Amino acid sequence: MAEIQFYTGENVPLELHKVRIVQKLDLVPVERRAEAITEAGNNTFLLKNKDIFLDMLTDSGVNAMSDRQLASMMVADDSYAGSATFTRLTDKLKEIFNTDYFLPAHQGRAAENIIAMTFVKEGSIIPMNYHFTTTKAHVTRLGGSVEELVIDEGIQITSDHPFKGNFDLDKLKKLLDEKGERIPFVRIEAGTNLIGGQPLSLENMEATADLVHSYGKLMVIDASLLQDNLYFIKTREEAAKDLSIREITKRISAKMDIIYFSARKLGFARGGGIALHDKALYTKMRELVPMFEGFLTYGGMSVREMEAMAVGLEETMDMDVISQGPLFIEYMTNELIRLGVPVVTPPGGLGCHLDASRFIPHVRQEEYPAAALGAAVYIAGGIRGMERGTVSEQREPDGSEHLASVELLRLAMPRRVFTLSQVKYAVDRIKWLYDHRDLIGGLRFVEEPSSLRFFFGRLEPTSDWQDKLVKAFRKDFGDSL
Ligand SMILES: *Cc1c(COP(=O)(O)O)cnc(C)c1O
Repeated sequence: MAEIQFYTGENVPLELHKVRIVQKLDLVPVERRAEAITEAGNNTFLLKNKDIFLDMLTDSGVNAMSDRQLASMMVADDSYAGSATFTRLTDKLKEIFNTDYFLPAHQGRAAENIIAMTFVKEGSIIPMNYHFTTTKAHVTRLGGSVEELVIDEGIQITSDHPFKGNFDLDKLKKLLDEKGERIPFVRIEAGTNLIGGQPLSLENMEATADLVHSYGKLMVIDASLLQDNLYFIKTREEAAKDLSIREITKRISAKMDIIYFSARKLGFARGGGIALHDKALYTKMRELVPMFEGFLTYGGMSVREMEAMAVGLEETMDMDVISQGPLFIEYMTNELIRLGVPVVTPPGGLGCHLDASRFIPHVRQEEYPAAALGAAVYIAGGIRGMERGTVSEQREPDGSEHLASVELLRLAMPRRVFTLSQVKYAVDRIKWLYDHRDLIGGLRFVEEPSSLRFFFGRLEPTSDWQDKLVKAFRKDFGDSL
């Protein structure tokens, strides 16, 4: 999106695309929403799409495709080996990242599996600015551990630091000095997922890579959320403001040994893979692709998705395209701030994050404020968010609760999907909820799986607070949905 100035002075993120395929949405009455969240065990993962108005659960695999992407899917070359689609995709990656080799994988976590199986062993330490759930799971599964070395601002909920995802280079140097022999590679996640889509600066990425290479270690980048990070480098980093998105991308990739990504995010498609400059590294990982994913020229992906990915990667080089997500998120975040609602600042990529600890400080962490807020936002507006708090943690080995360092409700902004009036609706219902926050109570588990409880666990309200919320809604909104 270009900077379009409005005559009235209002700051509106203008869509530079038009919608040509639509999906009808249902907004069910508040009574049905209360029923639906009960049926879902107060877990937004267990809601059914027919009950959801705005699905802000995730940005994964739910981004809108362009007309060109859709058209490209019709000319995909469906052959098991040597597909022309694969050649087009590797050529596009070469053009963008200057990489000669590509290992396809069915999605981001499959790329993580291949990298972890190649380099992680018992006792390995993998430093990273911040972990992602699947990344950490692959490292720990193989007996390794993760060290998070993001700058201190990274985990502060409110800040005006433009690059909260930056690596703390002093901490990284110390770790490399003290435990270097246990470190096979260092991983940059650009941008970060679990700390609010916060980016790293180009300067920090380059300095991190130089440091890592001076110790003879491999530099790995998780580029799943690179699209937003590129936008933030261009708009927030003085030294990069005259560089094109293509130039910034090339500068980053030149410093990386391994570039992997989830194409459910990067490239507006599905699938994923690993792009590399070095033949020896490529050969080292190659055999795992046919073993776990599929033959080397599709890696578990449908060729249609690969074709769409190649076009989506090209579109990622277009500032008009990649600014849509961050500008909508910024709009939503700033509107909520204006209305006094506590959110994570500065706005990042991926989505807008409500701070449940300040939204409902009267709900104790043992009663899962982020999950309770998720249920309340759904009741208030049919809006589905994702809990990022204590429910997403695992209990300690002794069975005690591991309280999360932050209690957030993530409202993801799938790219090119929502309109501004839908975003305004979300802001409005969240503001209403904030004004009725005293009504919101806690939750307790009724079914708690021992692993991945945030996916499958079921909870119930600790009081009749949800009935009270429905009554307050009816009182204020009359017959409105
Ligand atoms: C989504 C994501 C992954 C995993 O990708 P999938 O395609 O969902 O397997 C890895 N890293 C980051 C930063 C992500 O956001």
